[in-house]
Amino acid sequence: MSAKLKSVCVNCASSPGVHPEYVEASRELGTLLAQRGISLVYGGSNVGLMGEIADAVLSHGGDVFGVITEELNNKVGHKGLRELQVVPTMHERKTKMFQLSDGFIVMPGGLGTLEEAMEVLTWAQLGLHSKPVGFLNIRGYFDRLMDFLDHAVDQRFLKKEHRQMILIAENPNQLLADMEAYIPTSMEKWVDRK
Ligand code: AMP
Repeated sequence: MSAKLKSVCVNCASSPGVHPEYVEASRELGTLLAQRGISLVYGGSNVGLMGEIADAVLSHGGDVFGVITEELNNKVGHKGLRELQVVPTMHERKTKMFQLSDGFIVMPGGLGTLEEAMEVLTWAQLGLHSKPVGFLNIRGYFDRLMDFLDHAVDQRFLKKEHRQMILIAENPNQLLADMEAYIPTSMEKWVDRK
């Protein structure tokens, strides 16, 4: 069943990346979330694309919920957030971000971004939740990841139904529309169980 999104967790880089389009896309998504009244949930820092999207939401009058560890907060915590939860561990941070969010948007990023994205997708394929997960594919950044996931399907390590639950779009309006129309798969995880 599709549903209106009230809050979205954005997983994105703690760096700005090479091309200005990455920063521009973060600002565009942040602005859109604020205009649509969708709260941003994110990792609570002021660096890279994370800082850009939080600032864009705030400057357009939107709501931002940051969740961060104490150690990271001392180094890179965003000082302008009214709602910043400081938690003891990275695992609690991800659990909290998951609980606060109706869906997940993955923007360009490195290991941290990919790890957070793969975790919510793993939970989805196990049927632990039915929230949409969408990749915002700026400059084709995720093309090779999607090719790799197709390879995983070919090699029968990933079910095509689980591959198909991954949403991807080049612009944030389209991605939000796809997320709101998302119908969760009920396919069980096991491939080739004998
Ligand atoms: P990365 O893509 O490796 O830059 O990691 C970004 C993701 O990992 C974010 O969504 C954060 O949750 C977490 N993360 C990694 N590095 C930082 C950092 N310096 N400050 C805050 N969060 C970070």
